[in-house]
Amino acid sequence: MRYVMICASPECQFSKSNAYEQGVDQFCPTCGNDLLWKCPHCDRPLRDKSALFCSGCGKRLKNEKAE
Ligand SMILES: [Zn+2]
Ligand SMILES: [Zn+2]
Repeated sequence: MRYVMICASPECQFSKSNAYEQGVDQFCPTCGNDLLWKCPHCDRPLRDKSALFCSGCGKRLKNEKAE
């Protein structure tokens, strides 16, 4: 099993996956925002590095763009 992590920032494309034993990283090394490894709404673990919406609840994973 692997963790998939994506950056919470909508402007940042950073993503990675870690082996289970390596655990999860908390922050993006590219921009310093939070890294997501599970859905912030329903806690479902991420499966897809390019996912924009949760496959469990359909809500947006990344933060809204600040304008
Ligand atoms: Zn980032
Ligand atoms: Zn969800």
